[in-house]
Amino acid sequence: MKVLWAPWRMEYITESNEKGECIFCPGDDRDHDEKRLILHVGEQSIVLMNRFPYINGHLLVAPVRHVSDLDALTNEEKLDLVTMVERSVGILTKVMNPGGFNVGLNLGNIAGAGVEEHIHFHVVPRWGGDTNYMTVIGEVRVIPEHIQATYLKLLPFFKSL
Ligand SMILES: [Zn+2]
Repeated sequence: MKVLWAPWRMEYITESNEKGECIFCPGDDRDHDEKRLILHVGEQSIVLMNRFPYINGHLLVAPVRHVSDLDALTNEEKLDLVTMVERSVGILTKVMNPGGFNVGLNLGNIAGAGVEEHIHFHVVPRWGGDTNYMTVIGEVRVIPEHIQATYLKLLPFFKSL
């Protein structure tokens, strides 16, 4: 039996920022977007990088509004979220050339949601053999320098949205 690797179940994003604020709430201060790894803040949704990914290029797409449930979203927000997931997939494809993607949503703590209060999609690029690679390196995760480099690579594409 082939075990499906479900990277969105491993969500190491539980740490809030220094001020203890929700990492998915964009706030009004855009000066710290790079530090927060925020790639895009639209009217309805925000895209940022997972600070503790199991694979480089792991993005998170959330509504701007701090809501926890799908049924709390307006139709406008739903449309914008799926559009941003689609665009994230498009940009990652262009920049990182993965073979495929896992797109996931964790609802509730039991399902692995690290930040339950603010709903968010995981967009995880996949490459052939990446699970073997991950097994070999075990607990070693992508180092922050790589995340920052990937962030700077992806940013111009999100800026031109
Ligand atoms: Zn929030």
